[in-house]
Amino acid sequence: MKVLEQHILDRGQVLGENILKVDSFLTHQVDTQLMKAMAQVFKDVFQEAGITKVVTIEASGIAPALYTAEVLGVPMIFAKKSKNITMTEGILTAEVYSFTKQVTSTVSIASKFLSSDDKVLIIDDFLANGQAAKGLIDIIEQAGAKVEGVGIVIEKSFQDGRKLLEAKGIRVVSLARLGQFVDGKVQFLEADA
Ligand code: 5GP
Repeated sequence: MKVLEQHILDRGQVLGENILKVDSFLTHQVDTQLMKAMAQVFKDVFQEAGITKVVTIEASGIAPALYTAEVLGVPMIFAKKSKNITMTEGILTAEVYSFTKQVTSTVSIASKFLSSDDKVLIIDDFLANGQAAKGLIDIIEQAGAKVEGVGIVIEKSFQDGRKLLEAKGIRVVSLARLGQFVDGKVQFLEADA
């Protein structure tokens, strides 16, 4: 997605060998016009799939997931990272190792929000090693629901996330795909949409 690539070039910052900071439009301050445009692209790709829920993980997946759910006309559910005393009923959980925080946390979704009739689109801000998406797939499958695809804003294609998800037979659609960072600069591979 060319507009997104332009935002990454203009406003992204490479940190070290494999981290991209995009806090001015995606992970902290959110560019709502960009979110709308990205949501439309995810809708065009997945509209035939009969999506009934969009699922993401807090916090940075919430913005793109919410806009996507809105254009698809379905609810958005975000997996929670910390236990909450108000989550008293059945909870589905998975362990997720965070690439950026380097800690494992238990993420959870209340079982009442997912059922075996659901066709789920997972949306997340980044795909690195695929651990966040894998945890969400685990939870969705515990509910007996079907994962129709994973929509990613920025895929770091030099990490193993796509491989891991495709090995599970899951369709991955990334709006920007990054090759290895060279001299602190981002290089793009051909995106999926
Ligand atoms: P994965 O679970 O695929 O290894 O990593 C994806 C998660 O880690 C995303 O939800 C995102 O929050 C975070 N993440 C991974 N790589 C980056 C990065 O380069 N920049 C930022 N800002 N977050 C990242």
